[in-house]
Amino acid sequence: MPSIYLHIPFCHLRCNFCNLHTYGMGNYDALPTLRDDYTAALCREAELWAAEVGDRHVATVFFGGGTPTELSVAQLGAVLGALRRCFDISNDAEITVEGYPGLAREYLVGLQALGVNRVSFGVQSFDPTLLPLLDRQHTIDDVARTVQEAQSLGFSVALDFIYGLPGQTMAQWEATLDQALALSPNHLSLYALSIEEATRLRALIKAGVLPTPDADLAADMYRRAMVRLAEAGFEHYEISNWARPGHACRHNQVYWRNEPWLGLGAGAYGWRAGERYTNILAPTHYIEAVQAGHLPIGRREPIDRHTEMNETLMLGLRLRAGLDLTAFERRFSVRLVEARGPALAELVRWGLVSLARDTLRLTDQGLLVANDVLVRLLV
Ligand code: SF4
Repeated sequence: MPSIYLHIPFCHLRCNFCNLHTYGMGNYDALPTLRDDYTAALCREAELWAAEVGDRHVATVFFGGGTPTELSVAQLGAVLGALRRCFDISNDAEITVEGYPGLAREYLVGLQALGVNRVSFGVQSFDPTLLPLLDRQHTIDDVARTVQEAQSLGFSVALDFIYGLPGQTMAQWEATLDQALALSPNHLSLYALSIEEATRLRALIKAGVLPTPDADLAADMYRRAMVRLAEAGFEHYEISNWARPGHACRHNQVYWRNEPWLGLGAGAYGWRAGERYTNILAPTHYIEAVQAGHLPIGRREPIDRHTEMNETLMLGLRLRAGLDLTAFERRFSVRLVEARGPALAELVRWGLVSLARDTLRLTDQGLLVANDVLVRLLV
């Protein structure tokens, strides 16, 4: 059980592309009290899980959300303190906190004192005309200042961007990449815009207020990023993720290798012992369940061997290092080359996957149609 994810569902912002279940000032009058109760519940949930699991060694901790930095340093510290009491967090553990650009230096100093060693900021764009279009409220100066402060304190800094935005040009995307590189982050996540149901962005596009994003241009932006980031010395280690050597996100690699993890917090997912679970979504109900001394699980989904095998295949192929077929056979007693021989041969012929030294990988071309490739390979 090497990893723990903690979900912090608070965010006072309303980015128009976001469909996450978050709680901000608008929908919770009692938010300050709720944050205290939520913090206490996370600590108690850690205790409940510690009594449940055998192996308490933890190599990665990830605070995601929402916006985890909506909690105070003291609140995050209380949660980390509980984790340290309940689990054996290794000295070299990767401890990540996602935050909004613009954090005060004192806050970063506080995180550093807690032992947090990695911070991740959702920047989305450096273009001053595109940021307001997404209802983002930070400025480019906020990002630059926060990144520089974090780096001066020794944090490994990760930045997230979205491409394929409505009306975004290639020149704007290249400028964003250049500005990102100029800040020398250790990690970059680049996501194609996904226009989710029930978002204001979708409504604006549907109403014709914003142009429909051009999918072909988005694919070109992705290809451009691959070239530009390789030139800058970044390793492309997962479909949407690049890192300087030695800085690939250890926590997220647990997901892509389909290894177990514990998810704590309202709405968090976890996977262990043949089942995926989802915690109760509403923070108040989550808190009540934990206060009553129960693991706050809202839904359990058994993962049979066949499902686990297909998920391991789909997730593993997201990694540019590819899927180790020997390890796959050891784990599932299935030789993929035999089980999916005709489909594999076809995909190799089309240049979408490569098969070498017992490793199955998506090619650069295959990356662009990854979902179609994966569907053909399911066993
Ligand atoms: S900051 Fe993150 S969680 Fe908050 S609204 Fe924006 S995308 Fe959603």
